[in-house]
Amino acid sequence: MTLLTFRFAPSPNGELHLGHAYSALLNQKLAEAHGGRLLLRIEDIDTTRCTPQFEAGVLADMKWLGFGWEQPVRRQSEHFVEYQAVLDRLIREELVYPAFMSRGDIRAFIADSEKRGRDWPRDPDGVPFYPPSDKALPAKERKRRIAENEPFAWRLNIDAAVARAGRDLAWTEFTDESLSATRSVEARPQDWGDVIVARRDIPTSYHLAVIVDDALQGVSHVVRGQDLFSATGVQRLLQELLGLPQPAYFHHRLILGPDGRKLSKSLGDTGLARLREAGASPDDIRRMVGL
Ligand code: GLU
Repeated sequence: MTLLTFRFAPSPNGELHLGHAYSALLNQKLAEAHGGRLLLRIEDIDTTRCTPQFEAGVLADMKWLGFGWEQPVRRQSEHFVEYQAVLDRLIREELVYPAFMSRGDIRAFIADSEKRGRDWPRDPDGVPFYPPSDKALPAKERKRRIAENEPFAWRLNIDAAVARAGRDLAWTEFTDESLSATRSVEARPQDWGDVIVARRDIPTSYHLAVIVDDALQGVSHVVRGQDLFSATGVQRLLQELLGLPQPAYFHHRLILGPDGRKLSKSLGDTGLARLREAGASPDDIRRMVGL
């Protein structure tokens, strides 16, 4: 039997809360139940929002909870060279293009289009699709604007990418916390439009770094929050384009706050450090998240 590999992959851009504890502890429980490996990955590609202080807090919280992870911890900010190599491949294969429009430009473009009675498409998070104009820029013009240091992001040409994949994509989703059964979910990457895959200064995005690392680290089971369910379609497409293996997924329930809304990193009273200071034990945390 092959060894199963699980991972908890937080972004150190704030303090961890009960939702993170549930995700980490569920991964741990499953790794233990299946005799699998348990990894901790620090997803800190956003070098402005992620700080060493928040990372220290993540490590302290995980240690306190008794989350026993393998060393070394993979820190994404130390692997930009690897992401750049993958990005270069997507550039060479003409699956990505430099997108120069600022947020203001995009808003104006969409307002103008909607004034003329056209509903502008939005992704599942409600973010409007990127306008199509930059996709058609001649290569010379792109080069000139990049050379002139215009800000831009690399976006996936989603139609070209879906065409390149050449077949309908799906992923394997477990149906419950005990991973006893699976179903196949149709991947719908086109629902996200031309997603950002890298920035001018940071040669990756969340989607790209996640699939590269899951493959590199041999992650067989991605167990993470329901909020990332439909984004999995984009990740599945990128795996297909890059010939990477596909893990199986379980998107778990979210721990909600007293107001019934998803917890955020600014909700102090569900923060793990705050709960610890108030006298809660790791077992209390397990009970609070239903594990
Ligand atoms: N780093 C992501 C987050 O903190 C999770 C990524 C994943 O599990 O795929 O939301």
